[in-house]
Amino acid sequence: MSLNAEWMQRDLKVLWHPCTQMKDHETLPLIPIRRGEGVWLEDFDGKRYLDAVSSWWVNVFGHGNPRINQRIREQLDNLEHVMLAGFSHAPVIELSERLVQITPAGLERVFYADNGSSGIEVALKMSYHYWLNCGQPAKKRFVTLTNSYHGETVAAMSVGDVALFTDTYKALLLDTIKVPSPDCYLRPEGMGWEEHSRNLFAAMEQTLAEHHQEVAAVIVEPLIQGAGGMRMYHPVYLTLLREACDRYGVHLIHDEIAVGFGRTGTMFACEQAGITPDFLVLSKALTGGYLPMAAVLTTNTVYQAFYDDYATLRAFLHSHTYTGNPLACAAALATLDIFRDDNVIEANQVLAARMASATAHLVEHPHVAEVRQTGMALAIEMVKDKPGKTAYAWQERRGLKVYQHALERGALLRPLGSVVYFLPPYVITPEQIDFLAEVASEGIDLATRNSVSISVGANLYPNHRDPG
Ligand SMILES: *Cc1c(COP(=O)(O)O)cnc(C)c1O
Repeated sequence: MSLNAEWMQRDLKVLWHPCTQMKDHETLPLIPIRRGEGVWLEDFDGKRYLDAVSSWWVNVFGHGNPRINQRIREQLDNLEHVMLAGFSHAPVIELSERLVQITPAGLERVFYADNGSSGIEVALKMSYHYWLNCGQPAKKRFVTLTNSYHGETVAAMSVGDVALFTDTYKALLLDTIKVPSPDCYLRPEGMGWEEHSRNLFAAMEQTLAEHHQEVAAVIVEPLIQGAGGMRMYHPVYLTLLREACDRYGVHLIHDEIAVGFGRTGTMFACEQAGITPDFLVLSKALTGGYLPMAAVLTTNTVYQAFYDDYATLRAFLHSHTYTGNPLACAAALATLDIFRDDNVIEANQVLAARMASATAHLVEHPHVAEVRQTGMALAIEMVKDKPGKTAYAWQERRGLKVYQHALERGALLRPLGSVVYFLPPYVITPEQIDFLAEVASEGIDLATRNSVSISVGANLYPNHRDPG
């Protein structure tokens, strides 16, 4: 038996994997990874896979990055962890200073959580609690966009909108207000992104006009709706939204968990709209993909509404045990050093242009409705019928075929439903991008052949991190 097979057998006896119908593994091999280096992952049989999705969008500077490794080792020799209530430490203070410095003006306080979903919970609770502390308890609802994804915990799910996923847990969810997404895939033919995004803002304006007295915050994934299929929109929507939130007295929460740290072509997506949200939630690439951590940045106005004598009970008594973990902070500091020292945002422009040119031919493909890109994220939407943009039935699991083909060819390309996408680490080379484009083209050819019928059992989450 191969080493891969041995580890797989042991795994399947005791593990329950995330976002997986475990029965799929009766036919789909699980891939145990022995080591990683740069953009490559290597399994126990020595086969290598180019990590085109940055291991669920976290790994920006490669696996086993020597500079991040070194910084974590140094921190490990001094302090692995200390609780952050009543205590503090150098890495968390330095990291907070630097996050305040590199994010838009006005964000001056940093609160930590230990994963993205928890960071969203922090922002939602803080916003509601702010209005409560200001004598406005009626402001307790959240406005969100259709096709949004904000995480897996119950409140984070409530502000999300991945239909089949949300439906299962409907009975548990908060009552939120959903507004149509400015998603430019859905724009009328011949219309530009800006005009479409601007037009779609009318629904948001109307919702805020109607409901602002009961709304605490609007929450958005700026520029790219990630788990909803890498759907994209124009920054003008965010500019209009900021202006409207100010006018109606409603907070704006930017979930930049996936798009922060250069993914959209600027360090943070909000820069492209020239705005400062009231809450900026960061995670994923924050630690270079090394350790779980989230940061919620907010304004001094929000902070001051909680600052009072203890007995007034206005404090934010929220905590996660591993808040501000020093090893995670060390990884984040090393990551920020690399951004600064290597001029990464500028260097990425060359890679982004290569992603565009390497995939340009796919626009002509009879089953590709769109090739879209924002910075270092590029998505290819496979459809059954090109002129009508008719989607494939999710049960056909066309994306899974691309996933399987890519694995054979030595690439980790994990589509979202019928959307094949590249979200590579920034240390990828132009030649490696060409390789990914070649593998994706072959995979799309295979997956869109009519005869394809590869349904492997039921899949509850057709559009959610899942190659089905
Ligand atoms: C991944 C993600 C989350 C959730 O983060 P976790 O660390 O997986 O809990 C929230 N929002 C967006 C936009 C994400 O992409």
